[in-house]
Amino acid sequence: MIDQDLHAAAYPRLDKAQLAALEGCPLSKLKHYRHGEKLFEAAQRDSNFYVVKTGAVEIVDDDGDEPKVVATLGPGEFTGEVAQLTGGPAIFSGAARGESDVFEISNDALREIMNVHPDLGDVVLRAFMARRHLLHEMGDFTGLRVIGSRYSKHTLRVREFLAKNLVPFTWMDLEDDPQVKQFLEEVGLTEADTPVVTWGHKLLLRNPSNEELADALALRRPFEHTVYDLAVVGAGPAGLAAAVYAASEGLNTVVLERDAPGGQAGRSMRIENYLGFPTGITGRELAENAVVQANKFGAHLPVASPVAGLSFDNKYAVLHLDNGETVSAKCLLIATGADYRRLDVEGCERFEGCGVYYAATPVEAQLCKGSDVVVVGGGNSAGQASVFLSGQVRKVYLVVRGGDLYEQMSSYLARRSEETSNVEVLLNTEVRRMSGDRCLLEVEVVNNKTGEARTIKTPALFCFIGATPRTDWLPLKIEKDEKGFVRTGASLQNSEAWTARRQPHLLETSRPGVFAAGDVRSGSAKRVASAVGEGSMAVLFVHEYLKQM
Ligand SMILES: Cc1cc2nc3c(=O)[nH]c(=O)nc-3n(C[C@H](O)[C@H](O)[C@H](O)COP(=O)(O)OP(=O)(O)OC[C@H]3O[C@@H](n4cnc5c(N)ncnc54)[C@H](O)[C@@H]3O)c2cc1C
Repeated sequence: MIDQDLHAAAYPRLDKAQLAALEGCPLSKLKHYRHGEKLFEAAQRDSNFYVVKTGAVEIVDDDGDEPKVVATLGPGEFTGEVAQLTGGPAIFSGAARGESDVFEISNDALREIMNVHPDLGDVVLRAFMARRHLLHEMGDFTGLRVIGSRYSKHTLRVREFLAKNLVPFTWMDLEDDPQVKQFLEEVGLTEADTPVVTWGHKLLLRNPSNEELADALALRRPFEHTVYDLAVVGAGPAGLAAAVYAASEGLNTVVLERDAPGGQAGRSMRIENYLGFPTGITGRELAENAVVQANKFGAHLPVASPVAGLSFDNKYAVLHLDNGETVSAKCLLIATGADYRRLDVEGCERFEGCGVYYAATPVEAQLCKGSDVVVVGGGNSAGQASVFLSGQVRKVYLVVRGGDLYEQMSSYLARRSEETSNVEVLLNTEVRRMSGDRCLLEVEVVNNKTGEARTIKTPALFCFIGATPRTDWLPLKIEKDEKGFVRTGASLQNSEAWTARRQPHLLETSRPGVFAAGDVRSGSAKRVASAVGEGSMAVLFVHEYLKQM
């Protein structure tokens, strides 16, 4: 059952004053469409935004066997959803029903109108977000199809990439979907071709890299400026916060993200200590809202854009992308956070993607529903994963090397893990071996006090044993501490690397105009809130630096 309030929020009608604002706006064009004429097609990139003046527009889901009308928009109603702002491909098609007059507005113009008319902007934004929620609740929406085996690392990679980048899709598991063989035959493929991505019955890509997927779905787009005011590397909480503040304050801003917005926080199913969300928020929701917000203000967020190096051309920072492209900026914010640590255990690498996971979201939980699973780690991320997985699987073994669950885990999570009936906490315990064939089957754990070993039959081990900074792409000019985190502000006081006459700003690195925020920064708090705070604060120093440039 679809919530009526959600439906009402998804399909509001603009009032007379709002329509008049559009009518008088030079950025909107009034166009006439005949019955059946298409305004935009599903999978089309950069489709315009349309507001119905007279007549009607049908929104059609045409990825299934039969086209299905999802909504009929009347006068005052408008097309679009989140992809309209993020630049992703249209999910549905739109066609005129009867003779219709519509206002046509480009995406750039829409952003401008939203900023000039915030009341109109709020209605449109709320509707876009509500439509995305409706889509998740529709149940019968297919969207892109990913066809591949649960035992394939690449299938998991493609599914994770789409999920993290908020692209709706349906997964057909080669192992247990009864329709998959027939579907493959219909599109002229065999199992050997998988994983494949299709739109309806049209093959889009065969085992695509993340970059190929991003290009096909318009997640990666051409750079708009030769020199940006601010380039941010990393779209975790710190980078996204910086993007929102910088773009809203008029700086032309690019955020280069190698994988998907959200960073580590995007792997959390419940962030409960972030101010303003008393019932918690998933990392995915937080990232989705932040991406929409950053796009609303005009920040440019091309994924997948891994940055491989940094050099300097006079005063400008020059970022080298791994595909050979370069991006120049007057200021740079390093917000590349930290990367999960791997278990140094026999068999671990072999089972990555088919038994060993570094995130516990619905994508991974789907692979081990009803089974026993092992979570390794004594920090908050391991606690969160255990609690989330306990609702999806038969039993969770939480393997903790130390003897006190409360030592590194927040007490609310430690208590919840202890009190959840199907979570068994194994203290003083370490993983010794993993074994299986195509995929993980068994994990051997050993008590580091008594030496007692135990074998757990499981298809999944979730690893949350801390993280190391992602700073290998930085040149020596950017000073790091002994663990590889970037030094900033006061910690550079006696550094020879800092050569400017003034003192470095609080979040400034050893190179003037280059800042660092969030987990990547030496001495940072390693929390969502502090990463967001630092990302926002960095923009203040960017303004200071630009003023003196
Ligand atoms: C499972 C889990 C649960 C958590 N739960 C909580 C919680 O409940 N509360 C809390 O306060 N904290 C929590 N944390 C910690 C919190 O998520 C981090 O402190 C926060 O995400 C740090 O943000 P950041 O932006 O500094 O870095 P990150 O989140 O690490 O983001 C860095 C981004 O940079 C990108 N990147 C890295 N290298 C490159 C490159 N070379 N080129 C381009 N992009 C690059 C990465 O892909 C990533 O998206 C959790 C962490 C995990 C792993």
